[in-house]
Amino acid sequence: MDQYVYAFTEGGRDMAGLLGGKGANLAEMTRLGLPVPLGFTVTTEACRAYLSTGAEPDGLADEIAAHLTALERESGRRLGQADDPLLLSVRSGARFSMPGMMETILDIGLTDDSVRGLAKASGSERFAFDSYRRLIQMFGSTVMGVDSAVFEGALSRLKESRGAPDDLHLDAADLARLVETYKVLIRERTGEPFPQDPAEQLRRSILAVFASWNSERARLYRRRERIADDLGTAINVQRMVFGNLGPDSGSGVAFTRDPATGRPGPYGDYLSNAQGEDVVAGIRNTVPLTELQRLDPPSYARLREHLATLEAHYRDLCDIEFTIERGTLWMLQTRVGKRTAEAAFALAAALADEGIITPDEALARVGGEGLARLMFPRFDASAVGVALANGLPASPGAAVGAAVFDCAEAVRRAAAGESVVLVRQETTPDDLPGMVAAQAVVTSRGGKTSHAAVVARGMGKVCVCGAEQLDVDLNGRRFTASGVTVEEGTVISVDGSTGAVYAGAVPLVDSVVMRYFETGEGSAGLVDAVARAMGHADAVRRMEVRANADTPEDAARARRFGAQGIGLCRTEHMFLGDRRQLVEAMILARTGEDRERALEALLPLQRQDFVGILAAMDGLPVTIRLLDPPLHEFLPDRTELAVRLAAAEAHGDGTSEHDAELLDAVNRMHEENPMLGLRGVRLGLVAPGLVAMQVRAIAEAVVERKRAGGDPRAEIMVPLIDTVEELRLVREEVEQVLAEVSAASGVPVACPVGTMIELPRAALTAGDIAREAEFFSFGTNDLTQTTWGFSRDDVEAAFFSAYLDKGIFKVSPFETIDREGVGRLVEIAVAEGRAARAELKIGVCGEHGGDPESIAFFHAAGLDYVSCSPFRVPVARLEAGRAAL
Ligand code: ADP
Ligand code: MG
Ligand code: MG
Repeated sequence: MDQYVYAFTEGGRDMAGLLGGKGANLAEMTRLGLPVPLGFTVTTEACRAYLSTGAEPDGLADEIAAHLTALERESGRRLGQADDPLLLSVRSGARFSMPGMMETILDIGLTDDSVRGLAKASGSERFAFDSYRRLIQMFGSTVMGVDSAVFEGALSRLKESRGAPDDLHLDAADLARLVETYKVLIRERTGEPFPQDPAEQLRRSILAVFASWNSERARLYRRRERIADDLGTAINVQRMVFGNLGPDSGSGVAFTRDPATGRPGPYGDYLSNAQGEDVVAGIRNTVPLTELQRLDPPSYARLREHLATLEAHYRDLCDIEFTIERGTLWMLQTRVGKRTAEAAFALAAALADEGIITPDEALARVGGEGLARLMFPRFDASAVGVALANGLPASPGAAVGAAVFDCAEAVRRAAAGESVVLVRQETTPDDLPGMVAAQAVVTSRGGKTSHAAVVARGMGKVCVCGAEQLDVDLNGRRFTASGVTVEEGTVISVDGSTGAVYAGAVPLVDSVVMRYFETGEGSAGLVDAVARAMGHADAVRRMEVRANADTPEDAARARRFGAQGIGLCRTEHMFLGDRRQLVEAMILARTGEDRERALEALLPLQRQDFVGILAAMDGLPVTIRLLDPPLHEFLPDRTELAVRLAAAEAHGDGTSEHDAELLDAVNRMHEENPMLGLRGVRLGLVAPGLVAMQVRAIAEAVVERKRAGGDPRAEIMVPLIDTVEELRLVREEVEQVLAEVSAASGVPVACPVGTMIELPRAALTAGDIAREAEFFSFGTNDLTQTTWGFSRDDVEAAFFSAYLDKGIFKVSPFETIDREGVGRLVEIAVAEGRAARAELKIGVCGEHGGDPESIAFFHAAGLDYVSCSPFRVPVARLEAGRAAL
């Protein structure tokens, strides 16, 4: 039978799937001999079983009872014992950290009897009743479903009647009265009393925390973070320790290094005479951890020792939660800390320098998405004025947007396309949709470990927190700072790297990382750390990285960014603008001669395009794709044209013969479903002379570059092949033109000819197609559209968000390759293509070529290169390196 419960002494860090991250690390700390309050973990498997059947799995209750008995024996007290109760916390903790998204219930075991015992044992009646009312509040809302506002209302009313400015001014008698009020409210709302049986409190808490896995905010968070919905949460049941027993007690959060920059040294926030929740909630302002050295030197020294132990053990930055109960330090949580992109690079470089990790491990710890974020612009230092307020730089980057003061307004404006900054006193998990919608989050209270800071960092959003000068008036929808009042909708600028908040829109400048890629300049700090990661990635990766570029400027930029060629040079734009008329003339041509004349006019223009690109990529492959889109895209809109003609007729102006001819052609070429119509190779096969003209332009450009002493490496790529026969016919034409140009110029021109694989039929018959192709390039955009039967332009707005909600897919298949479907076609085509032609060169040129997860797949599938937009080239180099580890 499955084991559903593990004591902390039985688990370990490698069991996070079963015990959740928190449980696995509590077990690991216990094994390391750190002071962790006793406890046990109920597995994610038990959660999954409960959520799928709605019933407690068999044997779970017995296992919990056995572990509880052991825990009671070891602590010498029973749960809820009347004279000196053992109290417990029931803490959620999933495989992947979901800060504040699920429930945790503290002080379980308090009853009308045991609260008196706790008062006596602790020597504080006030503390005992404060704990009891907290339990009733948490249990009442999480387990019994009473809206927490009901309790908060009662609390505010009590404070008002007692003239108390905050909770600390309520005495034991007040809190005892509050407990009675809460109990009445619960009975009124639920028809049921607050349970006085500690075992029942425990059992129901566990089930309710299981259920909190499926709360709306938890689901939203998972979607955003791409965490699977079916993992479930584990639950940690743990003896309570108290940070709110007086000035010699307190709670805090600590990092082994600065999570924003990677600089070594203890770092964190501390709040004396408080429970851990108060620190994270940002209700009172914390003091820096170093203050603890003054307040309680022995605990501070022990904490530093434990931090050193943890960092050495995990070989990474760790963050922890701790509580000091009357001078005794307790470790409540640790994990390998979340970090900013900047810190990830800095940390990896620092830890590698210190010899703690290898260069391979350092590379594994940074990522393409983080790198992409570091390439964003920042505020122009010379243009920033005096800040309205300065808070803590909690999550870096620069953001400009309209100030909004609640979640709904943020969502509403963002949906209308406006960029917004969410301004709050503090955030709670309920603000999540607003945080998702906003460009930045600003709070007036709370430290770098407050909810706002932790969640924003996780999402890569700009965040400034604890900006105390901000006087936020939520009801008036405005804030005041430095004598300036900012109303809702007014634009402000937020610098998450310095903590400054400015009025108006501050201009932006490029990032140092971007400048490094552009110019090779810069060597200090972050640039050095990025350069080292890139260097190692380049050394270990097997796949090449090319760029998608259609102009000499883009090609040159891609080359500076480290592209090893062009994987996709589209020729469509070369037919637009002024040249549109020539294309029109070609389409309308009545005789072969007319058509040839139009094509001849296009030829020198195309040739010049190619000369420029081949020069920019001299010595590197340039894959030029023959014309792809449907012809009608070069013609005027059908309806507009018809209206123009009708109007001219009505005015008796006499219709232009040209317009009439055009309309005729447009009508002839009209397609109900252009996506599946006359595109790609089909166009080349039915529009005589088009392929020949394009190939001639390429070949003559090669000749010109060779004569100029260059090393042009043009490759010719045929789009949208269904069958080898199409490719064979085009190839014949290509080879004939290449031979003609070679003979005429006396310069031998040999261009490899290959094809896009972007239709399922092509992938499934890749073995045949490889006989005629020297290379394949997966066009994964079209391959995704045609495999799923999705038109990207139509489905993304229409129903993708519903599909994501329903969990039909976790991420859009246009963003990250669908491994099972589209990916399988890729694997088939690679295997059968290579079986037919061993030296077949294979790459990918769809959007997916720049997506980290997809790059890992392409590496595993054996591709030779990925090609992506110039700005993604550094990302792809890094990820291709990581994929090869
Ligand atoms: P989260 O995952 O949201 O951080 P936790 O399980 O860490 O939730 O619990 C929230 C807070 O409750 C913690 O910050 C911690 O300070 C407090 N807490 C939980 N268990 C205990 C305990 N056994 N003793 C004292 N405080 C606890
Ligand atoms: Mg926690
Ligand atoms: Mg395509």
